[in-house]
Amino acid sequence: MGFFSFNCEGCGQSLRSYHAVNAASSWMQSAVVYTADGKFHQGAYDGYGRLETASENVELLDGACTVYHQRCWRLLGRPKGFLPVASGAAADQGYFTDFHPEKPKTRGEMQQLRKHRQVEKRLVEPDEGEARAEENKAQLEDRISKLDKVLGLLDGSDPLYPTLAERRDGYALQLRTVTRYLERMR
Ligand SMILES: [Zn+2]
Repeated sequence: MGFFSFNCEGCGQSLRSYHAVNAASSWMQSAVVYTADGKFHQGAYDGYGRLETASENVELLDGACTVYHQRCWRLLGRPKGFLPVASGAAADQGYFTDFHPEKPKTRGEMQQLRKHRQVEKRLVEPDEGEARAEENKAQLEDRISKLDKVLGLLDGSDPLYPTLAERRDGYALQLRTVTRYLERMR
């Protein structure tokens, strides 16, 4: 199984496994997770969808968790609870990256990290491209409609609002790309 990861709701960067950090970025391993059943978990991310802690070994499934770096969660004032949208899958898979930022000291520094775009390293195999694109399209449409519902309920000054709005725009951009790709195939 390959590496995969999720993006932190605070800084937009991936949870990292210990393979993918250095002295500067080691804070990116420490994760805080809320699962859909409302449970709270903390621990080091293992790079394969689990937290390595003595008491917990939590499977983080796409669609069923809200994740933060522990550092970002603290900077955000320790928000509680599961958001009714999954934390986004990380394009760098928490592994394929040379980006090693220092631990953010303020909420402003954390937000600056959102400006660093992850590079999508995964490549679609040509023969599975169309089926994957159809699947992605349905998933993206679903996520966009869920995010629209959440954004409609949140106050614009909520610290999570810009994060969620940015994610919605990211999905909309991906949806346009996928739709164009499918149109070309027909
Ligand atoms: Zn973060």
